[in-house]
Amino acid sequence: IAKELSDLDKKHYLHPLTPPKLQYEQGPPIIVSEGKGVRVKDVNGGTYIDGMSMLWNVNLGHGQEELGEAAKEQMTKLAFSSSFNGYSHEPAIRLAEKITTLTPGDLNVVFFTSGGSEANDTAFKLARYYWKQKGQPNRKKIISLSRSYHGVAQGATSATGIKEFNSIVSSKAPDFLHAEPHLLECERGDRDNKNYDKSVRGIVEQEGAENIAAIILEPIMGAGGLMIPPEGYLQALRDLCDEKEILMITDEIICGFGRTGEQFGIDNWNVVPDMLTFAKGITSGYIPLGGVVMREKIRDQFVETDDVLFHGFTYSGHPTSCAVALKNLEILERDNVLENVKKMEEVFKAELKKLEENHPHVTKTRAIGLLGAFELYEDRENEKQFDPEVGAAFQVVNECFDRKLILRFINWNGSNIVAIAPPLIVNEEEMKEIFSIIDEALTVFEISLK
Ligand code: PLP
Repeated sequence: IAKELSDLDKKHYLHPLTPPKLQYEQGPPIIVSEGKGVRVKDVNGGTYIDGMSMLWNVNLGHGQEELGEAAKEQMTKLAFSSSFNGYSHEPAIRLAEKITTLTPGDLNVVFFTSGGSEANDTAFKLARYYWKQKGQPNRKKIISLSRSYHGVAQGATSATGIKEFNSIVSSKAPDFLHAEPHLLECERGDRDNKNYDKSVRGIVEQEGAENIAAIILEPIMGAGGLMIPPEGYLQALRDLCDEKEILMITDEIICGFGRTGEQFGIDNWNVVPDMLTFAKGITSGYIPLGGVVMREKIRDQFVETDDVLFHGFTYSGHPTSCAVALKNLEILERDNVLENVKKMEEVFKAELKKLEENHPHVTKTRAIGLLGAFELYEDRENEKQFDPEVGAAFQVVNECFDRKLILRFINWNGSNIVAIAPPLIVNEEEMKEIFSIIDEALTVFEISLK
């Protein structure tokens, strides 16, 4: 069956985020067939540890039967019903309310989408619509950070700061601007700083706040390289938004629902945005669902007139997705999963530290909750990068894969970052297993350099 599936895959299946030539010639590196907890099996009978929760989303781990049962129950009762024209149903109502008990401040109104990209596109549209309804239609521009990832729908891909995503037929829309990430001092107003013009604050001043609708950022940058902001950064941007009356959107698509040990990434810094986008962890990836949570003032602006909100997806508030999300949130609470994340964060950090002690090229280790990474430098003391030809992170991730551990490498401007984000139900033994494989992979990599 493996050979047959591989051949059919090569012939008929164009994969996202994959080099088409390689896939066409070689077929899939793995055909996953089932999963339980932190492990998945492939069609050849191999068992892998999923050190990335697949796409940072299978937070409750694989094979969680209660989520399957919740889907079955809802599907056989009412699989789908519309949310258009005011139609409603209990799973979406209950989920909207439930989410707002978890979000901070008055982030009390939810708009549902099918996934993360749509959530960000929705947030941009709603931000512009908010300003239009407030009589400031010129506020259209959206500022995001270089290296950020916000998805691939038109707005989301335009906000994405990883430039390769805009190389596909120049898909960047107008009115999207990118600032350099994490320039704390600039955001606090240090105009003498040489990077000031590239900071969010610098760009706001150049463009004029009266033309800016919103800024968007991931509390912790995921695909851009697991970048944790410096202390005070999110607050500095909150202050900037307050000062210039700009809407602040945080993209919680990776961080949301416990990934960092707090409910949301922003909760690590006690910052309340004007809108927050979510997807992935809301259903632990069992079924597609995303959305935007907004402050009441945004909805209140929309109810000032009789205008129709001309925005919505067929699957906005899909009943089955909402039922699974409700069960997912129930389990997160019932099983104290966030407590586990905090405990495992300690193990995670200790293991990362050991890697740094035992392997000469490992540096810049970091973790927050179960979201972490390490980097590889040829000479870490002098921050000398490896020659790109070496493909350092790629090699280490491949060595891990050969030892049946799934991780992800990130190359950015010559960097070699290895990301690690296991399911939130991982236990200590499994964490140690993950790190013993990484340890071995690093040793093999070091020998290959000689
Ligand atoms: N935003 C962030 C931070 C993400 O990591 C992702 C996906 O990885 C997205 C947005 C896009 O979400 P989706 O792939 O569900 O459209």
